[in-house]
Order: sequence, then C-alpha cells, then structure tokens
Amino acid sequence: MKSFGEGIGRKAAAFGGAVLAAAAVIFGAAGCQRESFSEESGTGAAASVSAYDASGEALSIVSGESSEGFSAAEGAQTVEIQLLCTSDLLGKYLPYDYEAGREDYSGSLAQISTAVREIRKENCVLIDAGDSTHGNFAEAFAGGELHPFAQAASAMGYDIWCLGERDFDSGLAALRGVMDQMDAETLCGNVYDGDLNRIAAPYAVKEIGGVRVGFIGMVSSNITRWNGDKLEGGIATSAVVETNAMITKLEDQCDVLVGIMHMGEESEYGVVGSGADDVAESCPGLDVIIAAHGHELVEGRTVNGVLIVENEEAGKSLIEINITAAADGKGGFGVAEKASRAVAVEGYEPDAEITELLSWTDAAVKEYAEGADAEGESQAADA
Ligand SMILES: [Zn+2]
Repeated sequence: MKSFGEGIGRKAAAFGGAVLAAAAVIFGAAGCQRESFSEESGTGAAASVSAYDASGEALSIVSGESSEGFSAAEGAQTVEIQLLCTSDLLGKYLPYDYEAGREDYSGSLAQISTAVREIRKENCVLIDAGDSTHGNFAEAFAGGELHPFAQAASAMGYDIWCLGERDFDSGLAALRGVMDQMDAETLCGNVYDGDLNRIAAPYAVKEIGGVRVGFIGMVSSNITRWNGDKLEGGIATSAVVETNAMITKLEDQCDVLVGIMHMGEESEYGVVGSGADDVAESCPGLDVIIAAHGHELVEGRTVNGVLIVENEEAGKSLIEINITAAADGKGGFGVAEKASRAVAVEGYEPDAEITELLSWTDAAVKEYAEGADAEGESQAADA
C-alpha cells in the first residue's frame, strides 16, 4: 500500500524544473484509446474519499503492484497522476489584504507555492481555475507589461489557467496581455469575441507518464450578465454544449478527461449548465470537474460518476486530486481510482522566492489603493 505521505518533501528540488519534462501539449493528436471501464470503477464511495490519512487507503492500486517509480507507459500497469488546483485567488498573491491595509496569512499564492513544493509529485499538473487577476487591487496591473499573477504562476510552473469571468474585468486587451505573459496554457472554450473567435483554447491534451489527459476549460455563461460589456460584441455559449463537443472530439484520443469549469456547483439565475453539477449530469464522459467561482470548499463529491472539487477563495485552500490510471491491455489507460483532498494554506509560510519575485508589487498596490481611497472619499464628499 502506497502511503500518501511518502512523496512529501522529496519533490521540492524539482520545483520550477522539468516537472512535466515528458508532457507535451498536443492539439488534435490521435492515438490512445479511451476505454469505458473508467466509468465502472472509481465512481463509488472511493471516488469521494476526501481525506488522506497516514494509511493512504484512498490510493490503493488496483493491480496490487506498487506504482512507485512509474513515470512512463513502457511496461507500466498503473500510472499515478496528480492535479494540484487553485482558483479564485482574487489578487491574493502575497499575504496582505490591501483593502483592509493589513497582513493576512489566511491564504495567498506565496503560501500556496510552499505547499506545492511540499506536495508536488513527479506526474503533476498545476492548474488555476480562474478569477485570478482581479481583486485585492490587482487591477492596478491591468494593461501593464507584467501582471504579478502571470509572473508568479510562470515561476511556480503552472501548466493550465482556465479563465473566470473576473479575468475579463479590465477588457479583452488587458486579458490578452496577461495571457501572453503566462507560460501556462490558457483555456476558455465558450467565450467568443466580436469576430466569433474563441478568446482562448477550449482544451489542452498533456501526456503524463504515458497517459493522455485531456483538459477542457469553460466559464459560466452568466459571464454576459457580469462582464458582457467587456466582450466587445462577443458572446458566451453553453458550457454543457461546448464541453460535450470537446468530449466527442477527445474521447478517442485521451485516457482521462478533466473539466475545468469556472462555475460553482449550483447553476445561477436558473441558467441550465451554469453549475458544475449540471455539467456533471450532462457530461458523464468527464472523470473529474474542477469547479470554481462559488468560493465553497468541496473536497470531493461525486455526481453522476464525476468527481467534483472546488477551492475556497483568496488562496485559502489548495486542492489535490490523485488519479490512478491503469493499463487497459489495449494500449491505453482507464481511470482505476480517483481521490481528492483539500489542503488548508493558512499553516504554510510564504515562499521566499515568490515573495522576493513579487516584492515590487507591494508599493505599487498600496499606492493604487491610496488613490482609490482618495477617489472614494472625494466622491463621497461630492454626494
Ligand atoms: Zn467567478
């Protein structure tokens, strides 16, 4: 039995290095077969195991063989894949609340970086599920040469960034600037600009230890209610319709399918398909949904066979998902086991490297915040 705690600390040296050396982003590639046995197992009680204890029960290997040391498909019976997920950082990069004007160690990207160094395993994909670039006066950096989120996320080795509606707050030009600054692949499959071109890619495929994992990224179609004026004549389409189209496209070439859905569990405004539960009910081809936006901690629950997780806001939590992919004997893999847990970030010290990297932002945000305060007082005086 592999103990979950075994990997802690040993991967720290790999931080920022070739964590995904074997991974490649492939669009439209064909190859591995996605087999249906992923739906037969891992969807019951074990799928919603949310707390890893020292026994590591949740990571039992179906083949009975240890997965230790497997990082390639060659001869491997099982491959362990780890997804580390954040969302709704809302500008909380350093442990400081700029609106309150005080330190706040309840969570931040700098603290998450320390946790990631500790928890990250070899076959890891680091994902942010949106609402990352605004809040806590981070809008001060909109349209600038380097956004602190892009800077820190690139340094930490984020692989995928799925947009949330707030990432559109400063308009498309500013958003595209941040996307250009990011090393991570940006996903957003259901928002189109005025020329009906997607704002970002609908999916990415990464080969991880020989397992092809497809990541499908969407935002709540209610983005048009909140930020419709920022879309420059663009539109948002149904996340369910777009996700099913991508599943159809990817299911024969991927072994595992992960939905990154910037929406809470429940649909909003009665709009069908604007909640992760709706997507799970309508898209059973997904193995996992990383939800966001609702700011409610979901360590792991299963809807229609799909494991759903969601983080709290402002960097308070980090979700870890562990997927055991097992060879299906036909050249592909299926999901044999999937489990998740939430890590409380409050107990982690800020990462010195990220703190140093973002040190330039502190004075800039404080100056911006003072300006915003002064403007607010002036408007209050005028009223
Ligand atoms: Zn949101």
